[in-house]
Amino acid sequence: MLDYLIVGSGLAGMALTETLRREGCSLRVYDDASQQASRVAGGLYNPVVLKRFTLAWEGSRLMAFSLPFYQQLEREWAISIDKKKPVFRRLASAEEQNAWFEAADRPGLSEFLEPGIVRNENPALEAPYGFGRVNNTGRIATSTLLNAFSEQLRKQGLLDTAAFDHASLAFEDGHVRYGDLTARRVVFCEGFGMMGNPFFNYLPLQGTKGELLTIRAPELREDRIVKSGAFFIPLGHDRYRVGATYAWNDYTQAPTREAREALLGQLRKFVRCDFEVEGQVAGIRPTVPDRRPLVGRHPEHPELFVLNGLGSRGVLIAPYAAYCLARFMQGGHSLPPEMDVTRYRSHFGKEGRGLAGNR
Ligand SMILES: Cc1cc2nc3c(=O)[nH]c(=O)nc-3n(C[C@H](O)[C@H](O)[C@H](O)COP(=O)(O)OP(=O)(O)OC[C@H]3O[C@@H](n4cnc5c(N)ncnc54)[C@H](O)[C@@H]3O)c2cc1C
Repeated sequence: MLDYLIVGSGLAGMALTETLRREGCSLRVYDDASQQASRVAGGLYNPVVLKRFTLAWEGSRLMAFSLPFYQQLEREWAISIDKKKPVFRRLASAEEQNAWFEAADRPGLSEFLEPGIVRNENPALEAPYGFGRVNNTGRIATSTLLNAFSEQLRKQGLLDTAAFDHASLAFEDGHVRYGDLTARRVVFCEGFGMMGNPFFNYLPLQGTKGELLTIRAPELREDRIVKSGAFFIPLGHDRYRVGATYAWNDYTQAPTREAREALLGQLRKFVRCDFEVEGQVAGIRPTVPDRRPLVGRHPEHPELFVLNGLGSRGVLIAPYAAYCLARFMQGGHSLPPEMDVTRYRSHFGKEGRGLAGNR
């Protein structure tokens, strides 16, 4: 009997699989490539909310926990994924400059925000009020990471690329049967695909579509991540990733003309040089109304667990949330209440949701 079946191999499924494998657990992973948030993500890690100059939820803790997790994978798999780069927040007015000074003085933030204003010296950028510099930030190359992860699983025969069929899951005396496999537990890490999961669709996952462009801009000559209305992230060889949009009424993963125009409009407000668009991608962020992860056990099937709701910060949250869930499942430690799905217990059973598998 296997210890775990894991459904989904995005950032959530990858982080959980690696955490459990380090503990010697046996498992099998299912992924049908039906969602792609993790693969298309900008991959930015940054503990600061750049709109309001506040610390994001658990900002310092997530940075301290999650970056070493990725660095360990770099060593184990001989890949380079952690691209450290400062974020330069373009300041739009004298008021924003003052707000920056104030924020940089606050406890918790002073660790990340440089107190001074950096003058713009790049003729390809329009930034009369300069920039605020955020330190210790960067980008995780998520698609390189997930390709390496799939490759590892494939080599060991642990990856199944078929869609996981929830209706075929049978419950037997404290474990589950799925096809010809038996396992002690199943963990669903399906991203927005959780909407089709009859066990966990009682949880309030919203889904926020995001789109990104790749541009080629030889005259931009920037090595910093620059954030204004949109951000751009240098990828090397004159290429930059530009993003991201937020849309709440479209759950397709197809790129749209509206998003492209919106991003180009934002970019032209502060980038003066010519550029050409080379690509566009889209994905659905698994967002939650209270902006906290969805982690924990099914109310009536103790063999079933969920790891979801990573929202727009999957890179930093996934390793920590996976660690908390693994400790909960393996060692009986309690989950941080903010991420524990029991906070949505009252949603269970409404309109029949979440009741699949009940006899
Ligand atoms: C445009 C965009 C930009 C972003 N930029 C950033 C960023 O810069 N920094 C950051 O931290 N976050 C960013 N995010 C958010 C980040 O991508 C998400 O938080 C994260 O990827 C969610 O990971 P996940 O594993 O929960 O979901 P997903 O990546 O959606 O993975 C779920 C996986 O489950 C599989 N699956 C689902 N159902 C089934 C089934 N029934 N059977 C088999 N497999 C199944 C899917 O194929 C998929 O591979 C961005 C998101 C988008 C869309």
